[in-house]
Amino acid sequence: MTMTQSLGPLADGGHAIIMGGGPAGVACALALQRLAAQMSRQLLITVVEGKQFTGERHYNQCAGVLSPPLPTLLQNDLDVPFPYYLSRDSIQGYVLYTGRERVALPEQGEPSIALRRIQFDAYMLETARSRGIEIISARAVDLELHADQVIVYTENKPVQGDVVVGAFGLDEGSAGMFRRRTTYRPPLALDSVVTKYHPGDATMAAFGHYIHAFLPAHPSIEFGAVTPKANHLTINIAGQRVDVPTMKAFLQSDYVNTVLPNMSKVGHYDQHDLRFFKGRFPRSLARGYYGDRYVMVGDSSGIVRAFKGKGVTSSVLTGIRAAHTILEAGISRQAFDDHYRKANLDIIRDLPYGRVMRRLTILCSRYRLLDPVLRAAHDRPELQQGLFGAVSGHDPYRQVMGQMIRPGILAAILKEMPHRK
Ligand SMILES: Cc1cc2nc3c(=O)[nH]c(=O)nc-3n(C[C@H](O)[C@H](O)[C@H](O)COP(=O)(O)OP(=O)(O)OC[C@H]3O[C@@H](n4cnc5c(N)ncnc54)[C@H](O)[C@@H]3O)c2cc1C
Repeated sequence: MTMTQSLGPLADGGHAIIMGGGPAGVACALALQRLAAQMSRQLLITVVEGKQFTGERHYNQCAGVLSPPLPTLLQNDLDVPFPYYLSRDSIQGYVLYTGRERVALPEQGEPSIALRRIQFDAYMLETARSRGIEIISARAVDLELHADQVIVYTENKPVQGDVVVGAFGLDEGSAGMFRRRTTYRPPLALDSVVTKYHPGDATMAAFGHYIHAFLPAHPSIEFGAVTPKANHLTINIAGQRVDVPTMKAFLQSDYVNTVLPNMSKVGHYDQHDLRFFKGRFPRSLARGYYGDRYVMVGDSSGIVRAFKGKGVTSSVLTGIRAAHTILEAGISRQAFDDHYRKANLDIIRDLPYGRVMRRLTILCSRYRLLDPVLRAAHDRPELQQGLFGAVSGHDPYRQVMGQMIRPGILAAILKEMPHRK
């Protein structure tokens, strides 16, 4: 194949290499293929993915709650039907807990779908394979970026192309490859510990279809959640430095005891119960996330809803947006700056609001100031809506803050303050 010095839009015969076959990488591959066909261009697209999704040989820490507009994005932008058949639960809303209070926040629109992430990833990757996209089942181990080409070395074979898309999530080894060759610096991240638990059919039926989300007054846990998944619950915590002892303390805490009384005594475990996995959430924008012949999408870019949010939806969105830039504007640093960064300003501009909100939440939960907020929310639908937007990640944080920082709402919260013990 002849490589070209051109950093313009990927032309007929161009080759895009995508490092990582999670939602961001596969969305980018499928969007490239679809858009190129609309432009009557023939591209070569290669996805390099190190995990085996089929047969569930690998695990994914993600709780697998997939929310609107993901089904529409898949259908309209990728021509991929949302795999509703993988659904394990339909999430009807959240119950939010602070130190002493709780409030139910029902979903007003289309419910989110809870599924097994590894099955969703398998579905997406197999769709790409069935459409003729080359999938290399191996890890990428190094790369070179030259004026006229990129080379990605894998455990299987080297691949030469015109542009490389970094869709490797928060994988530190992959970030290191780009770090050595470019100005890329991965996003800062929050640690997370995840486990699952099968409490038995009766407890699952009583648990219902709400995610129970906790903002505990704990020095290292920023938030925790218990998510129903038909026959089991996924339990996760996140914070700057959470580990297995922190998770064990959380499982024995009053918070978990409220929703799962006597959890430690029930003992309906299957062999996979209460094994602990680690994951990470990005909490800042990456630096140098694009340059000549490379661009990051999904978690590796840090262009995800700040604090907590819909990681999979943002990842698919950034993958699609990168594909547009590659085919419509080019593969130079300038093209990514003019086109890709601008396309993502809706998320990027919301990141500072998310950071402020995270800081405020940590501060307020530490000093038990969130209880009055929840008390005030009981009979104020507009405050409930703001809290729902914040907890679910459905609404931009700027909008959520606008909804909550209003004289009437602040006055109602202040009125609840005297109840603080
Ligand atoms: C505990 C936890 C719970 C979460 N729950 C939710 C949720 O309920 N809903 C939601 O929307 N989001 C959730 N998220 C966030 C979500 O998981 C991420 O935002 C999303 O997976 C990012 O997609 P991605 O494609 O960017 O990266 P990933 O999903 O991480 O995919 C990256 C892929 O790249 C591959 N890879 C990495 N390096 C290499 C290499 N060198 N060679 C080959 N392959 C490589 C990996 O194997 C992986 O498959 C959660 C995250 C955590 C940590």
